[in-house]
Amino acid sequence: MCRAPSLLKTRAWRWGLRLLLQVVILAGVVAAPARADIIVLKNGRRITATTVTEENGRVSYETRAGRLTLPGSIVERIERGGPTFIDSAADQAAQLPLTLPPAEALVGYDEVARAAVHDASIDRNYIAKLEENARGGAAAAVTRVAVAHQAAAQFELGRGDTDHALAHYRRALTFSPAQPILLLNTAYLHLRRSEYSASLDYLERARRVAPESADVAKLAGWAYYGLNKLDQAVEEWKRAQRLRPDPDVARALEKAKRDQQAESSFREGESSHFVLRYNGSAAPGLARDVLRTLEDHFRAIESELNFTPAEPIGVILYTEQVFADITRAPAWVGALNDGRIRVPVQGLTAVPPELSRVLKHELTHSFIQQKTRGRCPVWLQEGVAQWMEGQRSSETADLLVSAYERKAAMPLAAMERSWMRMPGEVALYAYAWSLGVVEYLVATYGMRDLERLLDRVAIEPSTEAATRSGLRMDYPELEQQTAKYLRRTYLR
Ligand SMILES: [Zn+2]
Repeated sequence: MCRAPSLLKTRAWRWGLRLLLQVVILAGVVAAPARADIIVLKNGRRITATTVTEENGRVSYETRAGRLTLPGSIVERIERGGPTFIDSAADQAAQLPLTLPPAEALVGYDEVARAAVHDASIDRNYIAKLEENARGGAAAAVTRVAVAHQAAAQFELGRGDTDHALAHYRRALTFSPAQPILLLNTAYLHLRRSEYSASLDYLERARRVAPESADVAKLAGWAYYGLNKLDQAVEEWKRAQRLRPDPDVARALEKAKRDQQAESSFREGESSHFVLRYNGSAAPGLARDVLRTLEDHFRAIESELNFTPAEPIGVILYTEQVFADITRAPAWVGALNDGRIRVPVQGLTAVPPELSRVLKHELTHSFIQQKTRGRCPVWLQEGVAQWMEGQRSSETADLLVSAYERKAAMPLAAMERSWMRMPGEVALYAYAWSLGVVEYLVATYGMRDLERLLDRVAIEPSTEAATRSGLRMDYPELEQQTAKYLRRTYLR
């Protein structure tokens, strides 16, 4: 049967990686995205693949190991260009686009907003005056304060500063604690930062004032999904659909129902930072071992990144899928970390070193996702995750350097967003190059500065702005310094 080829760290694997990098680099690294398709098997498995063709009753598709072929009789259908895997928390499963009641819905918006934010800055004196006038509690004065803070929050959001945006909403809520627009916007910002419990507090308050709001139900579903409370997520999204049908909610609901069904027979385990689900047939000993391993990694990453995730992290063990090291696999059946860590474990009774590495890699994604409030670009996510699991560039340095010197290196700017449409071999190159950059950063500046860079990424308008202010380097400079570092360290 087809499954992603094992990527255990064998010599054959290293050799294969080098070969692939060579091919990619000789080809000049084309970043043109390839469309990924999904082959759905009759047994329900889904295989993400590129270049899928059907011929003579057989379905074949591209993998790193070459072209694989399946008998057409086991294939249910092929979904063309569908959503695909990514080994990164950057692609959250339940993120929903949101159209909230526009800020302008607040009475007298325009005039007050213009006075509160002008000449590219917030007029704090003006807002202070409005607050002074609102102390008496007159309704009109209180609304003006809400409008002013709403405008200021939007301004901060435009600069990518969710911290200050949230501060404005919280301040506005002290004057107008039951204003649904303020409550929904505050809840939404917390969701964007993966702060699900905080978000639910505001949603509960919003529900008390607006019990029939579809937006409240939509966001509450997202929060519960993030907290791994599937039953409540499904309930909220169903409610949202009854109140106001919405295609985005329909998609999220369908996914949550699929997960719910798949996990209905799962058992649960829990430790201080994790909620673990696994199929009943898994050895409970394995589940305990996985939790112990995760807790060890949690403590290590917590101190390296100087950060503690606020929410428990969901982990799902798939006992029907054979374990393979897929942290660098560009195509896999499901997401490895789409907000929850999903790990295939068939046939294991304890945690082998390869699985331990995979867990540390995926757990790092969860930390970074929360530390950067979901704003970390993929290259930095994957670079840090690989570094944390213990990968170094010794095997790939010469190819990365030669690509750079022949001006065939992929610019970091092209590696910020989802890699899921990259052809497999280009993604492998992207992993190697990302690791090189992070390794250079840690070797030169130390973990403390890297960790502070992640904090900057959370608040600066772009990652390149964060490297400029934190490291005094733009992307081209960072690429050049990385190539120099790799040459100096590995190619003497
Ligand atoms: Zn990863």
